[in-house]
Amino acid sequence: MRLDQFVSQALTLSRKQAQQFIRAKCITVNGQIVTQASTPVPDQAQVCCEDEIIRLPGALYLMLHKPSGVISATEDPSQRTVLDLIQHPHVQTLHPVGRLDKDTTGLLLLTNEGQWSHRISAPRQQVPKVYLAKLAEPLNRVAAKQLELGVRLHGETQLVAASSIEMLPEHYARLTIHEGKYHQVKRMFAAVGNRVEQLHRERIGGLSLDPTLMAGEWRLLTELETQLVF
Ligand code: URA
Repeated sequence: MRLDQFVSQALTLSRKQAQQFIRAKCITVNGQIVTQASTPVPDQAQVCCEDEIIRLPGALYLMLHKPSGVISATEDPSQRTVLDLIQHPHVQTLHPVGRLDKDTTGLLLLTNEGQWSHRISAPRQQVPKVYLAKLAEPLNRVAAKQLELGVRLHGETQLVAASSIEMLPEHYARLTIHEGKYHQVKRMFAAVGNRVEQLHRERIGGLSLDPTLMAGEWRLLTELETQLVF
């Protein structure tokens, strides 16, 4: 990790403020003043700010009930991001685990622990994700079967399939997928001649969205919940 990143996370400063501290010779690494913001901080190094040891915050894991209208990014010059919804001293250390489209609602995980998010979103992990989709047209049995057998998405060579699909009343369908391709659910329904009007993620692995969280609310995960996702 770069020194400016370390200082900004340890002291909950913006990257710019951290760079000012570094340039002002306030920061030492293993007893040496370092003035280059890009200097890598070795594992186990002792970093001090004006002679006080500073440490990275511990690992954070949380679930957000993502509302429609915010983007799954850490920063954006013009749009509200999911981080704008989180009031936590170390919010700047967090990143979303995968993405939901701006208009998709539901379970979004955030963390500052890169290995955990990688284990969830790496394609070969095949963690199941469950979505509830409101469709423009009722889903017929043939289309549902096609989705289970696999459909070719526009611009892709390999087929993608839903591992389960449940037909629900009033144009709703619940489906489980194991990959996380760009707009995957919307493109899968488009491939069978339908259109997703609303999309909501209910579950990742064994972890369901907490039903007590209103859209826009979040909470920390328990230790057990951090393991339930795999
Ligand atoms: N599939 C989509 O099409 N959109 C999402 O936000 C998530 C999965």
